[in-house]
Formats: sequence, C-alpha cells, structure tokens
Amino acid sequence: MSATSRVLRSFAFAAVSSGLFLSACGGEAASAASAEDAGDFVVRPALLETDTYTELAQQLSEDRWLEDVADTLNASLKLPADIGIRFAECGQSNAFYLPGEREIQMCLELFDGEREVFAAYFETEQEIEDAVAGSFHWTIFHEVGHALVDVLEIPVTGREEDTADSLAAWWLIDGEGGEASTISAALSFYTDPSQAGEIDDSQYAGYHSFGQQRYYTLACLVYGSNPDGYAYLLEEEWLTEERAQYCPADFERLSASWYALLAPHLKE
Ligand SMILES: [Zn+2]
Repeated sequence: MSATSRVLRSFAFAAVSSGLFLSACGGEAASAASAEDAGDFVVRPALLETDTYTELAQQLSEDRWLEDVADTLNASLKLPADIGIRFAECGQSNAFYLPGEREIQMCLELFDGEREVFAAYFETEQEIEDAVAGSFHWTIFHEVGHALVDVLEIPVTGREEDTADSLAAWWLIDGEGGEASTISAALSFYTDPSQAGEIDDSQYAGYHSFGQQRYYTLACLVYGSNPDGYAYLLEEEWLTEERAQYCPADFERLSASWYALLAPHLKE
C-alpha cells in the first residue's frame, strides 16, 4: 500500500451527524414485533484515578462527545434497560464494554494513543485531530455493538469482536459522514503497534481479527457501500482487486442483516 499523504488528506473527517438513518427507517420498525422501550444510553461521570485527565474529561463533557452519541442512539433505538457510557482512566489506550455494569468505558488514554498513531500519517494538527475524532467515534460504536449483543441478545455466529466491528462499520457508513470515521479506524488498525514485528501465539489466540484484517474489512465495506465514490481506494491500492469484487455484496448483506436484527428495536 502506498501511503501517500495526498490520499490520506482526502479522508477528511466529517462529524457524525445526529441525524443518522435509523430514525428515518421507522416504517420498517413499526411493522416489526414491537420491543419494550425501557432504557436509554446514559452518560455517566468520568472515572478518574488521578488528576491527569481532569481537564480533558471536563472539556470532552463540555463538548458533548458522549452526550451527542447517546442522543443519536436514543433517537433510534428502543432498549430494555439503560446502558451507561463514560470516560475512564484505564492505564491503557483502549475501550471496553462491561456486561456486569452494563456500561461502555472509553479510556481517556485513547486520545494520546491515537494521536501518536495518526501523527505518522498526517502533516497538520487539524488532520490529526480529525482522524482521532473519527477513530474515537468508530471505537465507541464498536463498543455499542458489544452492548447491543448483550442487552438485545443479538445472535452471534462468529467472533463477537467481528460482530461489534460490523455494527460500527454499518452504522457509521450508512449514516452521514461516517465513512471518514471508518477509514480513520481502519488506518489505526493497519498500524497497530501491538502487532508490529513477529506474530506470536498469544496474537493468534486473541479475540480480535488481526489489525490488518480489520483494516481490509473496513476499507472493503466503505468501498462496497459506494464503489464509484470510493474508487480511489482500489485505484490507489488501499484495497486489492481480489477483495474488492466482493465488497458491494458484502456491504449490502451486512446492511440487510443489521436492519433485520435491529428492526424490532428501532423507534418509529
Ligand atoms: Zn471489542
């Protein structure tokens, strides 16, 4: 893959709009078996162990990073119980869904970790910040995927991690501007520092697909959602010809599958 900054600059970040497609699909939802609406995504206060992230957590709260995501989800989905979302100081650049607490924790360390990854790709501070924001949005929707599998008892027939990836990709790509977030996440996976060098057994035994596989799957779904609009992914070898021929059908099937699985839980 030729990682030219010209190509990377074309991945301009577009904010994830609050008007995602799901609320526009109420007709289908209304005809499906109705599910109980007894819960919401609820933003909880940041869990801080030290003073390191006090200011960052305050700023993120003022800028409604979690609140806007919760509003988007609550406008679209009926839940049988509340699902918490919060920032947390975790000691690692990561994010988690905790089934016991029914809570998504987005680590505050993610921001520094992702900034480091994207600094190798982008030239300007704005490009780096946009990519960090895009990757953050993709990551939170990945955790939402885990939460929906748990709370809505969404069937999983492969790795749950792949299912969570697919929910995030579908939701963002089908929404407005989410392709850029998906591409940012894909780039972050491509250069996952934990998978640099030799691959050992613990990585083969891991829960996730390899970072580079996740990269190609996400690039494939973005391309497949609009082959003309994202032709450069193929032309500039961000995706292989062999894989690309299956991508439109892959995206179509993924989209139909998630609509079917979530139909009883969509608001009108
Ligand atoms: Zn996961």
